[in-house]
Amino acid sequence: MASIGVKVDNVSKYFGNLAAVDNLSLEIKPGELFTLLGPSGCGKTTLLRTIAGFYYQDNGQILFDEKQIDLLPPHKRNTGMVFQSYAIFPFLSVYDNIAYGLKAHGVSKAEQKERVMEAISLVRLTGLEKRRPNQLSGGQQQRVAVARAIVIEPQVLLMDEPLSNLDAKLRVEMRVDIRRLQKKLGITMIYVTHDQEEALAISDRIAVMSTGRIAQMGSPWEIYHNPTDPHVANFIGVSNFFVCPVKSIDLDKQKIEIDFYGKVLTTSSLLKAETKKVIASVRPEAMSIVKQENTSSEKINFIAKVVDITYLGSGLRVTASSLDGVDFQIQISHPKQIDNFVSGSEIIVEFSPDDITVFPDESESNEN
Ligand code: ATP
Repeated sequence: MASIGVKVDNVSKYFGNLAAVDNLSLEIKPGELFTLLGPSGCGKTTLLRTIAGFYYQDNGQILFDEKQIDLLPPHKRNTGMVFQSYAIFPFLSVYDNIAYGLKAHGVSKAEQKERVMEAISLVRLTGLEKRRPNQLSGGQQQRVAVARAIVIEPQVLLMDEPLSNLDAKLRVEMRVDIRRLQKKLGITMIYVTHDQEEALAISDRIAVMSTGRIAQMGSPWEIYHNPTDPHVANFIGVSNFFVCPVKSIDLDKQKIEIDFYGKVLTTSSLLKAETKKVIASVRPEAMSIVKQENTSSEKINFIAKVVDITYLGSGLRVTASSLDGVDFQIQISHPKQIDNFVSGSEIIVEFSPDDITVFPDESESNEN
């Protein structure tokens, strides 16, 4: 089946006075795995349910391949849905759970069998056809839910936090399987999660949502490496923030010189001419601890104190404090030993200017 595109055009959905989805627009390409990511309550599920037809929007349009589908009830929209709670029938076998939608559509017994067995094989449940849900693990139950959604050959597959009830290791296994399946079927998928690592791992593109709106939309790489505001930088992974005075701004070239602990560095950013302070954001993994300050190097060096050390198995997370009291984190990937860093000891921290992202200092505009 050819995959289709989805367009959400200026859609709002209110609960009383609350805009759970607030004038939101986005376009999903055919065959794309598109993720709605954001903290609890930001409106992800409401948007997904509006696309599915479980809610009707207060304004705006939803189109599948340029065709407006707003007036269609959920079962006529040709979408498949997978929920966090699996929502499979406890009294039916794996086979009958998956066949249920086909029976309802009047598909012949022979075709039912062929399609159910194919779906079972795609989600790797072959041999478990006769089991009841209470004889399956959580991961297997979710595979039944996925098979039940794909067997009706929907044009769009909608998944609402499908892995949240599974343990951490299984979540990673299942997300690989879901991605593989989505690519194999070439189906357009809208995936809701609050787990940023899951979103980065699984998606072609991500919309980071905040209070019913899109804060940023882009590929996982863009969202992680070029966040457009500090909230996105902090929500996606961990970011360290330092407030730095501005030395000069070249608006034509979108270049800015900032003073980072006494070292002046140039970076690109979209700012206003009157900006006096900025927030410089640096990821923990972009920072390292060096033995000696290297003043001739292009890199930025500054002195800090170790506050705490967390052992993560694959690495170390050092919490440090700058001399002016800003706490930040340094990620060390392959530590040779753990006792190199002692709380209270002085360290020299280094990073490359390329690893800085600069944002306007919002507190500065509030002051004005
Ligand atoms: P979570 O990750 O916790 O599921 P979410 O991002 O999916 O959160 P939504 O469930 O879409 O968020 O909720 C968005 C906002 O709308 C929240 O403030 C929520 O309290 C509110 N809301 C959601 N459903 C209803 C409802 N049926 N009636 C009233 N308010 C609702």
